[in-house]
Amino acid sequence: MKQTILDMNVDHKRVFVRVDFNVPMKDGIITDDTRIRGALETIKYLVDHNAKVILASHFGRPKGERKADMTLAPCAAHLSKLLNKEVAFVDDCVGDQVKKAVETMNEGDIIMLENLRFHSGEEKNAPQFAKELGSLADIAINDAFGVSHRNAASVVGIADYIPMGAGFLMKKEIEALSTAVNSPEKPVAAIIGGAKVTDKISVISNLLPKVNVMIIGGGMANAFIKAQGCNIGSSLFEAGQEQIATDLVMEARVAGTRLLTPIDVVVADAFSNEANTKIVDVEHIEDGWMVLDIGPKTRELYTDALKMMKTIIWNGPMGVFEMEAFAAGTNAVAEAVANADAMTIVGGGDSVAAIEKSGLAHKISHISTGGGASLELLEGKILPGIAALTEV
Ligand code: AMP
Repeated sequence: MKQTILDMNVDHKRVFVRVDFNVPMKDGIITDDTRIRGALETIKYLVDHNAKVILASHFGRPKGERKADMTLAPCAAHLSKLLNKEVAFVDDCVGDQVKKAVETMNEGDIIMLENLRFHSGEEKNAPQFAKELGSLADIAINDAFGVSHRNAASVVGIADYIPMGAGFLMKKEIEALSTAVNSPEKPVAAIIGGAKVTDKISVISNLLPKVNVMIIGGGMANAFIKAQGCNIGSSLFEAGQEQIATDLVMEARVAGTRLLTPIDVVVADAFSNEANTKIVDVEHIEDGWMVLDIGPKTRELYTDALKMMKTIIWNGPMGVFEMEAFAAGTNAVAEAVANADAMTIVGGGDSVAAIEKSGLAHKISHISTGGGASLELLEGKILPGIAALTEV
């Protein structure tokens, strides 16, 4: 069993906390502070236990160079406002200046270090850099699930020098996703959508034997429609995907999993919200038209199937939901997931955005903060950031 913050003696300790404050920002203004709020429980717990809290995060992709527009200073200021407490910002994440700042900390103080990725050692997981980070604290907490699929110094290497446990957010992510994949209450459904079948093939493959129903939507459904021998006109499609789809259909048969793919679709004569559109059965897609959403019969088929489920995992939109004309499929699924009497897990930026837009986010059991990391967990991979956590 991996250690969590609750297994560790944090009282009066210097605690290095890896958070994910890689928030959307425009002209130095934070436009969505969900990730900062996500770390509050861990930070408050540590302050309440008289720890010295040393926060570290990455921001953007500065590639080992100092970039003025990728400073974490605005995040430190915002956190300070949320906590109504001083958060001292330090202009670097390693070196003498940081050591001094840590030395002068009192119990219950919080400091925020500058962007870890201003040093190339972070993304390379360089031992010297990890050692320097580790030298700042007695113990480490990883509360950055969103980067736990990366082999970075602050999520992996640091654990070679000081013990590391999962923070509250990380703990919640691991528990929700692992339960849904490994010991879900049955029947269980996975809904996988989005543009590229190649990206999500290992997710579908890993989940097929574990779920009762697999629902496919989005651009990647085109591969399944084509594999049935139907014309897909000018729809999004990559060479080779048809074979992948055929193989997955076989895998589903072997696993005894009900695989649902669109029976009707919304087609358009251009990739535009103003395009001419019509609803056709998948057997009747004509040249010059492209599939941009699932049709009403498919919406009904999918939402009916979801009603009986006890666990639902959803990743990826059913259509080009960014355009109103092709959002109905994704919205219908969002509603069905939210209203299901089931443990529901939503991951991936687009499905999370869709569920939030629908105003039903509060009805979802768990919304994952890590798109890439949650996909890798669903693929059955062991995340380096979880593997690195100290055993209890
Ligand atoms: P992904 O990053 O693979 O989850 O794909 C998300 C993107 O897939 C979104 O931007 C959607 O607009 C896009 N998408 C969904 N359905 C389709 C479709 N039928 N044709 C083209 N793009 C699609």
